Amino acid sequence: MLPGDLIGTSEELTGKTGTFVDKGNIYAATTGIVKINNKERSISITPVTNTPPNLQVGDIVIGQVTDVKDSVALVEIAGIKGRGEREIFNAEQAAIHVSNVKDAYVKELYYEFSPFDIVKARVIDMRNMRLTTVNKELGVMKAYCGNCRTALKKDNGKLKCPKCNRNETRKLSSDYGTGII
Ligand code: ZN
Repeated sequence: MLPGDLIGTSEELTGKTGTFVDKGNIYAATTGIVKINNKERSISITPVTNTPPNLQVGDIVIGQVTDVKDSVALVEIAGIKGRGEREIFNAEQAAIHVSNVKDAYVKELYYEFSPFDIVKARVIDMRNMRLTTVNKELGVMKAYCGNCRTALKKDNGKLKCPKCNRNETRKLSSDYGTGII
């Protein structure tokens, strides 16, 4: 997350370390990775450190979609799952090719990912920094309304904006909206 990024609303979460609240929206106050504490329904930002990434093929990473083109979605990696404490490092750019999105035909990549989405993906190629989301748990963890930027809620397997009732589609992780990495 970068300073000023919308990370939640005070309706659903309490902003803690590294966040600030403005008109009911919670924003990142520092560059870092978002942590959601489900027990206390709070959200905080852990600042980015200069720890070397040590990424490997097979690693599960968390990142933010920065751009979606016809055949690739670009992702800025923010953290690696596991390895004792979750390692956090300076953002590294990676890409999800249209053929690595899901176990089914992808008509339009724009129906699967959108800029600002938080995704969970597996590293499949270090040289070209390719990721895959072909797996039930992999995919979008959090998505925002393309119209009003409110966090979309999962309802019967579909995404809906609680504010403007707009429906959107994504390649969802089975952990969507739980904050579980
Ligand atoms: Zn909306």
